[in-house]
Amino acid sequence: MRTPVIAGNWKMNTTPSDAVDLANGLAAQLPFVTGVTAVVCPPFVSLQAVADALVTSDIKVGAQNVHFQPSGAFTGEVSAPMVQGLVSYVIVGHSERRLLFHETDADVAKKAIVVAAHEMQPILCVGERLETRKAGEAEDTIRAQVRASLDGFEAWDKLVMAYEPVWAIGTGEAASPIVAQEIISVVRSELASLAGPNNADNIPILYGGSVTSENIGPFLDRPDIDGALVGGASLKANEFSRIVQVAASIVTS
Ligand code: PEP
Repeated sequence: MRTPVIAGNWKMNTTPSDAVDLANGLAAQLPFVTGVTAVVCPPFVSLQAVADALVTSDIKVGAQNVHFQPSGAFTGEVSAPMVQGLVSYVIVGHSERRLLFHETDADVAKKAIVVAAHEMQPILCVGERLETRKAGEAEDTIRAQVRASLDGFEAWDKLVMAYEPVWAIGTGEAASPIVAQEIISVVRSELASLAGPNNADNIPILYGGSVTSENIGPFLDRPDIDGALVGGASLKANEFSRIVQVAASIVTS
């Protein structure tokens, strides 16, 4: 039985005071969350303040990234031990990290391992670019990304996966639920070959890419889609709360 996860990625948005306002808005609108795990991932500088604002709510806090080394001469970076105890989740391998900051599958695998080793859950993102899809190579690309991004990873009970087609992120053009299900079932079959079918059955796999409260429902009706990673729509308390409420109503119906 997989509990759906609705995770908001605030990216490089919100000042610390905006972040606290947003968190307070969410705590007011979502005092209880039933049947769904709701997570928000603010910028590093706001993690503590957001965690404090959400302390009485069921909403969990995540980080957007960590370095794979525990400490050292890595100016500007933040490590897993630095956020351990403060967050429950860490996004690793987001396409913006891969494309803009040149993170490789090997880097992502090291990050996922270090996150789990510090008792947090990686939300590991994979997704193909538009040209890859147009070339008919989406499925093979995703299989290869899943394998390489989990090289050496074994903490299957902590893993959350997210399929985020690059062409759907921030574009307002979500994938169709049929396409998302197709690729997410490929992710699950790849997980089954890496982790065994029982572990694979228990790993939540999220869809991400232009999710809103209007389009979330049909994604969650698909058998392999266990929630959403939400960017733009997570920056409005009303809209993110609505997404969580729609998900909770589907799960409990
Ligand atoms: C994301 O950045 O992970 C994302 C899915 O963004 P958006 O919802 O804005 O497409």
